[in-house]
Amino acid sequence: MPLGDLTALARGVRDEAYGRRVTYSPKVFIPLTMLCRDRCGYCTFAKAPARLTSPYLTPEEVLGIARAGRDAGCHEALFTLGERPELRYPLAQTWLEDNGFASTVDYLVHVCGLVLEETGLLPHANAGALFADELAALRPVSASQGMMIESLAEDLEAHRRAPDKEPARRLATLDAAGELHIPFTTGILVGIGDDRPGQLAALQAIAASHARFGHVQEVIVQNFLPKPGTAMAKVAPCPADDLLWAIAVARLVLPPEVHVQAPPNLSDDLAPLLHAGIDDWGGVSPVTADHVNPERAWPALQTLRAATEAAGHVLAARLTIYPAFAQDAETWLDPALRFPVLDVSDAEGLARDAAWCSGGEVAPPELVGSGAAPLPSSRWRGPVAEVLDGVALGQEVGHDEIVTLFSARGPEVRMVAEVADDMRRAIVGDAVTFVHNRNINYTNVCTFKCRFCAFSKGPLSLNLRGAPYLLDLDEITRRVAEAEAEGATEVCLQGGIHPNFDGEYYVHVLGAVRAASERIHIHGFTALEVTEGARRSEVPLAEYLVRLKGAGLKTLPGTAAEILDDDIRAQICPDKINSEEWLEAHRTAHSVGLRSNITIMFGSVEHPDSWARHIVRTRALQRETGGFTEFVPLPFVHMATPIYLQRKARRGPTFRETLLMHSVARIAYRGDIDNIQVSWVKMGVEGARQVLQAGANDVGGTLMDENISRAAGASHGQRMGVEELETMVAPLGRPLVQRSTLYALAGTASAS
Ligand code: SF4
Repeated sequence: MPLGDLTALARGVRDEAYGRRVTYSPKVFIPLTMLCRDRCGYCTFAKAPARLTSPYLTPEEVLGIARAGRDAGCHEALFTLGERPELRYPLAQTWLEDNGFASTVDYLVHVCGLVLEETGLLPHANAGALFADELAALRPVSASQGMMIESLAEDLEAHRRAPDKEPARRLATLDAAGELHIPFTTGILVGIGDDRPGQLAALQAIAASHARFGHVQEVIVQNFLPKPGTAMAKVAPCPADDLLWAIAVARLVLPPEVHVQAPPNLSDDLAPLLHAGIDDWGGVSPVTADHVNPERAWPALQTLRAATEAAGHVLAARLTIYPAFAQDAETWLDPALRFPVLDVSDAEGLARDAAWCSGGEVAPPELVGSGAAPLPSSRWRGPVAEVLDGVALGQEVGHDEIVTLFSARGPEVRMVAEVADDMRRAIVGDAVTFVHNRNINYTNVCTFKCRFCAFSKGPLSLNLRGAPYLLDLDEITRRVAEAEAEGATEVCLQGGIHPNFDGEYYVHVLGAVRAASERIHIHGFTALEVTEGARRSEVPLAEYLVRLKGAGLKTLPGTAAEILDDDIRAQICPDKINSEEWLEAHRTAHSVGLRSNITIMFGSVEHPDSWARHIVRTRALQRETGGFTEFVPLPFVHMATPIYLQRKARRGPTFRETLLMHSVARIAYRGDIDNIQVSWVKMGVEGARQVLQAGANDVGGTLMDENISRAAGASHGQRMGVEELETMVAPLGRPLVQRSTLYALAGTASAS
């Protein structure tokens, strides 16, 4: 088959599996030892002892490299080393003995553990042909492992003096890794003497091993380049067409879930590699050289991104372990690695792409606004662009389209944000609205055991910030009077579910508010609180809600929704009301004339599929009742929460995910919900300002006494005055306008 036809076929398979996404792993390269007992004909990595100051890097040197990588935003520590040097060089044997290690692999296990422990970088051990016990010893300290098959030809001159390159040894290592459930990277080296049938046979052998164990996460197709001073210095480099043929054949021979990689530093033109079917560039280091190919520098990340985008693809950072393996951690990761992987993962199992986290103090990356990357041309194609084309034609986005929009990366994020911002302008205009309100959290004592909650003081609270409290009713009255005197138009009432509360308690709270003010809007009581209140009063929910309404309640907050996906609720709030009960509580509230809003708490353990489910279910209820006023994304603030301290959750959503939550919601709720709110408590001023350019139109309340995010570790303050809100909004050139809880704007008839 002509090469052009072959690469077109491969491209089709790649596009079907991965869309326009091309990944890379930001890494540091740690050459633990450059001594090797093999003498491969193409290799300049292996050195004679006389050319090295020490046979091995010391632990301090290893940690120095790893720390520099961590500070530069890397997630992977790639350990590359010669094979069993102690069997050839007494010097290596002596060094190992002097330092208390039985072998090179024994020392590798030690330093992988150090790097993991001290820096959080995920080790990837690339230690050659290993035995099962060695692979097993590395599994608790490396998130993935690798070994190039290179070639299965028995008689290659290049491998004549390399006992570890014996094909049966390589295949045995590959299978042993599979038996041990190790996510594995392997590959072929094209141009070292193998013919095309030989390369095909090697790829088929890899595919067969993967068919048995499911463990091959990626296959590297690497081109041979001659290096001065090697036995193969005068051999011609791998012709470009041979490399493209091998890439295309790899893509067609391997199942779609196995990624295909070509190193970007070994080719001058990157577009043909993408055209031939790769979906990964492998490890790219901002810190260290490619010690195997030191004459070929890594492309700078900006160059790699530009080349990738110029070819119509988006670049995404990944971890050394690919998402499919990371998300099935029970199978593929030693228990010791599960949290370290989770801790640097985003919601798709790729790498967190910036240090920002919700509630924290690190500034967000600039994704929209004047400093952001320019929009791609209108010719940009791919799944995200296709969904946006449908949106432009007025089509509704369903579950799958919503998941696709959440997958936006690189320039696609800006595309989604721009569409959402245009929609915001058309639907609600330029006003940035806020409500002048006060939070009153009457108690932090709670019988429920929500694992994301650092506010409640129950038996599961691992980090007790402050003492349990219960405000008395007089204090509630006093706080309401104080708030109204300061101009508040709303009080927001929420609290824990105190074991001593009965249904009457909430009626008394409403009475305490009304004792201070007849006018102030009472926004209060989550679906959980009213469901519990009705249950403890032994009356139907509708009857109970009518009672609360009669006592002054006007609207319900959407909190307690968390994620409306019961599989996720089972992990994060197992004893709370389920999705259907939350929906039913709001359906009932709407039926008795109480309005409410929708929240989503995202970024702990769930994936975009759950976000889409949440949006679709709440949209359906809105179409049924019309009772929701706004959508309020609440990014998970992780710092002091039990589930994070128990090492079972991510560190909240990334900034990209958070921005997209507002944009995608704007698009998905078009025609159903007009108001998308950004939480300044969780986003900070910089983050909120960007989100206001990505579909959001409201900044919520001034708050006074925000307690819940602060208990989880947020540091953005407990209140925000109108002047501060004005400072936040001013650079956008849009007016800040006070609103009522029901979105009557100041100067118009009050709807509160
Ligand atoms: S989220 Fe609410 S119900 Fe859950 S533990 Fe915290 S206070 Fe209690």
